[in-house]
Amino acid sequence: MARYVYDFTDGNKDLKELLGGKGANLAEMTRMGLPVPPGFTITTEACRAYLRTRAVPAGLFAEVQEHLLLVEMRMGKGLGDPQDPLLLSVRSGGKFSMPGMMETILDIGLTDSSVRGLAAQSGDERFAWDSYRRLIQMFGRTVFGVPGADFESELAAARAGAGAESDAELPVAQLQDLVEAYKKVFLAHTGRDFPQAPHEQLFLAITSVFRSWNAERAVLYRRQERIPQDLGTAVNVMAMVFGNRGPDSGTGVAFTRDPATGRRGAYGDYLSNAQGEDVVAGIRNTVGLRELAELDPRSYRRLLSVMERLEQRYRDLCDIEFTIERGKLWMLQTRVGKRTAAAAFVIAAQLVDEGTITLDEALQRVSGEQLAHLMFPSFDTSAAPAPLTTGVPASPGAAVGAIVFDSAHAAAADHPVILVRPETNPDDLPGMIAAQGILTSRGGKTSHAAVVARGMGKTCVCGAEELRIDLAAETVTVNGTVLHAGDVLSLDGTTGRVYPGAVPVHPSPVVRYFEGELSPANDPLLAAVQRLMTHADHVRRLGVHANADTGPDAARARRFGAGGVGLCRTEHMFLGERRELVERLILADDDTERDAALAALLPLQRADFVELFEAMDGLPVTVRLIDPPLHEFLPALEELTARVARAEALGRDPGRDAVLLTAVRRMHEANPMLGLRGVRLGLVVPGLFAMQVRAIAEAAALRVAAGGDPRPEIMVPLVGAVQELETVRAEAESVLHGIDGIPRIRIGTMIEVPRAALTAGEIAHAAEFFSFGTNDLTQMTWGFSRDDVEGAFFGRYLALGIFAVSPFETIDSGGVGELVRIAVERGRATRPDLTVGVCGEHGGDPASVRFFHRAGLDYVSCSPFRVPVARLEAGRAACTASTSDSR
Ligand code: PEP
Ligand code: MG
Repeated sequence: MARYVYDFTDGNKDLKELLGGKGANLAEMTRMGLPVPPGFTITTEACRAYLRTRAVPAGLFAEVQEHLLLVEMRMGKGLGDPQDPLLLSVRSGGKFSMPGMMETILDIGLTDSSVRGLAAQSGDERFAWDSYRRLIQMFGRTVFGVPGADFESELAAARAGAGAESDAELPVAQLQDLVEAYKKVFLAHTGRDFPQAPHEQLFLAITSVFRSWNAERAVLYRRQERIPQDLGTAVNVMAMVFGNRGPDSGTGVAFTRDPATGRRGAYGDYLSNAQGEDVVAGIRNTVGLRELAELDPRSYRRLLSVMERLEQRYRDLCDIEFTIERGKLWMLQTRVGKRTAAAAFVIAAQLVDEGTITLDEALQRVSGEQLAHLMFPSFDTSAAPAPLTTGVPASPGAAVGAIVFDSAHAAAADHPVILVRPETNPDDLPGMIAAQGILTSRGGKTSHAAVVARGMGKTCVCGAEELRIDLAAETVTVNGTVLHAGDVLSLDGTTGRVYPGAVPVHPSPVVRYFEGELSPANDPLLAAVQRLMTHADHVRRLGVHANADTGPDAARARRFGAGGVGLCRTEHMFLGERRELVERLILADDDTERDAALAALLPLQRADFVELFEAMDGLPVTVRLIDPPLHEFLPALEELTARVARAEALGRDPGRDAVLLTAVRRMHEANPMLGLRGVRLGLVVPGLFAMQVRAIAEAAALRVAAGGDPRPEIMVPLVGAVQELETVRAEAESVLHGIDGIPRIRIGTMIEVPRAALTAGEIAHAAEFFSFGTNDLTQMTWGFSRDDVEGAFFGRYLALGIFAVSPFETIDSGGVGELVRIAVERGRATRPDLTVGVCGEHGGDPASVRFFHRAGLDYVSCSPFRVPVARLEAGRAACTASTSDSR
């Protein structure tokens, strides 16, 4: 029979898949001899079995009973014992952290009789009755779906009746009445009494945690974070310890380094006389850890030493939940902590300096997504007005948007918005995803808003206490200024400042560093970026080239570390004033007219290439011959038809427009992306490709004559059959033969039609290199138009989970990726020294870069701005060091 339950003494930190992150880490801390309350973990396997069959797996509860006995022995108490009850917490915990998305139930074991035992044993009646009412509320809501508002209104009535400002002031008699009222609410909604058998409470709680895996918000969060939907959650059952036992008790969260900046030193929030949920919910404002040092120096010292041991064990920043019960410290949770992108770089470099990890490992502690985040712009504060207020800088970035006061409005908005809430809870997730930034008036860096925003890389300012938010009136008042829904705010997640209106943004320091404008000396972040990028460049096997069409773009790409141009799209060179020349080419009636048009285009093309080769001197520049359908260079059919009709109606001669209209009609295609473009166009319009080849060669000759080192390559788009390429190749070679003083120019092809991938073995006979055009390859493999479908149905497909991410963003490894693998294999079988790269958008996408590394490509090519991200990911892909679990 499968084993479904592990005592904390049985597991370890490497069993995350089976025990969930929380369970594995509780086990690890138990093994380390840290003060963890006794308990056990029910495996994710049990959850999966439950979700599959809708029934508790056979033998599970018997196993739970056995492990419960052990906990009871260690604590010297029985679950729900009327004299001296053991109470339990039941918490979810999957392989990946999903803050607040699933359920937790505390105080299991309290009943009408054991509440009295707890009161007697603790000598604190208030505490016992308050715990009981918390249990009924949490249990009712979580296990039976009783609306939370029904309990809240009873609580509010009790407060009003007792004239109490807060729950903490409710006297015992009122709490006892409240328990009775809660039990009535429970009965009314469930048709049954609140369970008085402690074991029944426990079993019901366990199954409701299983079910919470599929709660709507949890499913949404996983989709957003790309966590697989089929992992299931583990359930941790642990003896309760209490932070709400008076002023010598409390609860807190702590980080071993600052998760916002990476600065060394313990960092955290503490709330005295409270339960853990109060901190995370951000309901009361916390104090810093430093104040704990004054309140309870012994526990503080103990905590610091535990934190140090945890860092040593995990070799990374850890975050911790702890409780102090009457002066005794208990560890309730730890994990490798989430951090901002900047902190990730700084901490990785620090850990290398401290001798804790190697540079290879450091590369696994950062990601291309984080680097991309650091390359976002921030506010130009010199142009900012006086801030309205300052809150806690919880998640960095610069966000500008119109105020919305609830998640639904944020999710529905078609313009950038800032979600403004007193605090957030997991139900706000859709709005948080949709908003540019999140602003709350309550809670610290570890409140729900802060943790979730940081995880998403979203700007967040929280705990801005001066804000008076009136959700009903949809206003927020701050120091006399009243703002309404729709008013624009700017949030600076790095400083916590909140500005009225739209503040101009300025470039990121990391970008300025790549541009060579800022030195990394004396800046920990830039120094860390430099260090890790240098190492990534050192270890990566993949080259990183850029898609650049102009000299300035190529120059920037080069500053960003590109090793060449992987794609120069020549079509932009036919736009603007040159359009008329193209029109002449298209409309030419005879060779003389066509040749004249081509001759006029030639010097312009040549000048473009000279500029490009100069910017990339000494590095390869892959020039793609013209690709889009020619009619794109003519006026739109509708506009032209209207012009001609207007002229005719007025009795005027439409002149040249009439000629154009005939041409446009002749060339009109229903599916231009699948029509006369790429190599097909080159084979149909005489002289067009030859002119481009000549321009490339003459530009190279000019650069050689000027002492340069041009390295052009010629790339033919949209090839599907080797014969197409052979024909173009023959024509190109004859042009090249006639030009003196040029370097050898390689001729290759794009692979962007599925047939090209499948016949790559033949195509490689005529191609010295391949470059995957994964934009077209994705479009043609799936059979959907890259121009139309993202708006038409991708949203629905993402919501249904058919796509985890758009296949135009991250390579579809199972389908399009399979064609890539086939083409690489067949191409290299024909020509072992075939160079293979990719120049579709996927070339700069972190997950895709890792795929291309594994597929054995030689280089990726992407937009200049994404070059650093691709370099970093290529380095990460090449390192085989153990992966981090800082996700
Ligand atoms: C591609 O198809 O991936 C590609 C790079 O070409 P384009 O986007 O210009 O069609
Ligand atoms: Mg293409």
